[in-house]
Formats: sequence, C-alpha cells, structure tokens
Amino acid sequence: MEKKNGKELEKLLTYSLEHIAKRDGSIVSKSYDFCKGYKEFLTASKTERLAAENILSIAKEYGYSEFDPEKTYKAGDKVYVNNRGRAVILSTIGKKTVDNGVNIVASHIDCPRLDLKPNPVFENTDIAYFKTHYYGGIKRYQWAATPLAIHGVVIKTNGEKVEIHIGEDPEDPIFCLTDLLPHLSKDQGERKMRDVIKGEEMNILIASIPFADDNDVKEAVKLSALALLNEKYGITEREFINAELSIVPAGPARDLGLDRSMIGSYGHDDRVCAYTSLMAEVATTDPEFTSVSVYADKEEVGSAGVAGLSSDFMEHFIIYLSQMQGVNYLTTLKNSKCLSADVNAAYDPTFPDVMEARNSCYLNKGVVITKYTGSAGKSGTNDSTAEFMAEITNMLDSKGCFWQTGELGKIDQGGGGTVAKFISAKNIDTVDIGVPVLSMHAPLEVVAKIDVYTAYEAFVAFLNR
Ligand code: MN
Ligand code: MN
Repeated sequence: MEKKNGKELEKLLTYSLEHIAKRDGSIVSKSYDFCKGYKEFLTASKTERLAAENILSIAKEYGYSEFDPEKTYKAGDKVYVNNRGRAVILSTIGKKTVDNGVNIVASHIDCPRLDLKPNPVFENTDIAYFKTHYYGGIKRYQWAATPLAIHGVVIKTNGEKVEIHIGEDPEDPIFCLTDLLPHLSKDQGERKMRDVIKGEEMNILIASIPFADDNDVKEAVKLSALALLNEKYGITEREFINAELSIVPAGPARDLGLDRSMIGSYGHDDRVCAYTSLMAEVATTDPEFTSVSVYADKEEVGSAGVAGLSSDFMEHFIIYLSQMQGVNYLTTLKNSKCLSADVNAAYDPTFPDVMEARNSCYLNKGVVITKYTGSAGKSGTNDSTAEFMAEITNMLDSKGCFWQTGELGKIDQGGGGTVAKFISAKNIDTVDIGVPVLSMHAPLEVVAKIDVYTAYEAFVAFLNR
C-alpha cells in the first residue's frame, strides 16, 4: 500500500458529516419545493382522522383502490386499506411474489394533544369550560395561553356522525387554557416543571355569556354553550360520550427563519414521516418487491388500540397478500424488511447537556437512522442487527441518499420508543429512520426542509430497492 499523509489518511479512515447544502447546493431549492405540499398536508391534518382522510384522498388521485381480499392483483396494482378512518395501509404490488419479502415503511399519524373528557362541559363563576385529558407525552405548561383549535367527531344517538372543526379559519374563534399572571405566580413558581399546569387544570375556555331568557336555569353559561353546539351540530351533552374531540394548536404550518429553511408547526412527529413516505409510496410504480406503507394510530401512547401497530391489522394485510399469491405468509414475514419511519431529537445547541454530541443527529445533515431507541440500558428497544444496518446504509449510499445516524440524547436523560419493536416482533428486520426535530412534542415543533426532502429520497430508494 502506498504511504499516505495524515490528510489522506484522515479522509480514508475517519467519519464525519457536513451540512448537506455544502455537499450538494442543488438540494436547497428541491427541498423548498417539496415542502410546499408538506405544509399544506400538515395544516389540513391536525388529527389522525384528518391525516388518514388526506392520505386516502391523495392515494385515490394516484389510482389506489380499496383492497379486496377476494380479488387477485397483478404487479403495479395499487390498493389501500382504511382501518376505521384512523390508520391506513397503501400498497403497490411488486413483480416478485410476496414470499420474497415486502418493503414496509411504517409511520404514525397521531400526535400529542388534549382530548375532551367524555363528560367535558362545566361552568364555574359564569365561565364555561371543556375538561380535557391529555394524550401522549407533553410538557403541559407549553399548552397554556396559546391559541388552540378543536377537531373531531361526535356520533349522535341516532347514529349520525357529526364533524366539528373550529379554530383554523382566521374568521373562526379560537380556544385556550389560561395561565397565572407572573404577579401571582409565587406558589406556582415552586411547583416542579411537570406540575406547572396540572392535568386537572387543563380546562379549555369556551363561553362567558349566559343563556338569555326569563327562566331561572342553574348554569346559564354552560347552557348557552350547549345551545350554540346544538344549533350548529345538533348535539347534546349526552352525545359527548360517543365522541373523539381533540384540542390542538391553532393555525397553519409556516416557514421558519429568515432563509425559510425550516418549518415551524404542530405535528411534525410523525406526520413528517407519514407525508414523505406517502409521496414515496405514490411515486412507486413498478417495484420489484410489494410495498406496504403504513400510517398508524396510537404510537404516542404505546401503539395500543385497534389501529395502533400492536394490533395485527398490518399482519392481516400481509397474510391476505400471501394467501392471494398462494405462498406461506410466515415466509413473507421472515423475508420482509421494514423502515420504522419516525422522528428523532435533533441536537439543540441551546440545551447541549442532554445530548451526546458524537451520537446526536443534526438539522440539515439528513434523515437519521437510529439503530436503537429505548431508555437506560436500551430497555424496550428494537435494536436493529448490524447486518440490517449495513444493508440499509449501503443501499442508501448506493442510491446517493444523504443520511446520518443518531441516538435519542444522553443515556441517563430519558428515552423513548417507536413502532419498531412491534414490527420486529413479527420476525421482520426493522430499523428506525426519520427526520430530526427540534422542540419535539411541543405545540410548535421545528424541522429543516433539507432533512424532510432526504427522508422522501430515502423512502423512494427503499421502496425501489
Ligand atoms: Mn413519533
Ligand atoms: Mn412522539
């Protein structure tokens, strides 16, 4: 071997990554263009139901039809499964039979939020409120004194489904939960961070004028609020029991920064992976392997529920595909590969103490591959094999994709999980991959447009491997 100088050896032996725009300037405008559609999707998809609806309507534009297990499909056919309006599977049938494996990309479309309690309406001192029960991991204080909207459905006792959406149109009223003024926050200031706003203090302000007539009703402001809801939606207090109504940050996704290089919005986790994998799925026309793009519910509360990925609905779809092609579905599962498409925490220079700089992901360095998640001693992790890591990273390199690697912060600072462990539990090689996010789970999360675009490119590469 020729003798190398230090500079040459450094290039050959060490590993470090530059800002992607320094490596490929052309990606900037491509990512800005791509993110226009992403911002529209985010703004229109404030709940998992709305996200599922928008995913289905985009899929139908691209020729997806409802999957029928009794039918036979040929290579290139595109099908969808709608799981109760809360989760979606999109699939493009591949040239190879599914016992060669399918390509799964699994993201989630639920986000942290405040749900209305089943009996939510109350009045106190001539003010009417909704009581809420928060969903997912939130820092509760972030939700006080900020504009909020309400989205969801009510199933009336006559079976009719009513949709409620208030607070997004600039002409709409908004809602909020109140916080104490600094002048009277001496005791609140002594509370621990998690209790600055307590769970039972998350009451949404909804009305303050009493119902106007001569009768002496007990709670006239509450009655006035119920009357307004009844007038517009035909619902009664009893019908909140059969409802899913969520309080979310009001307003659209917006460009962030003087250079517009980032997007500030509610819901990047994980609609950023849902949208990028959706765009990759619909663009996949003639794949070798059948694609299975999953947009799941309930990840933020442990993937439970009928439309979360600890439910078998995705496996059932794979079983149907296998039966249709007359192959053993266990072989299909064993040979399948999955990208668990979820966000990771980007290194935040303002809070360096919780990050391990060598093993963090960074804004503008691309989609992040996370070998393992979990907390403490990797508890609850999928921990992808070295072989599968090599397969995916080499595949991305061979297709010219930008990517980085990262852990979720310092070992003893906390941790988290994704859908990965539920899919690998089915004997499917799985690794986490997704977009770096600042202020994850906050009402305003931040992503970099370049990273969003690299996620899309990575999913295109995988679905066309
Ligand atoms: Mn997530
Ligand atoms: Mn999350």
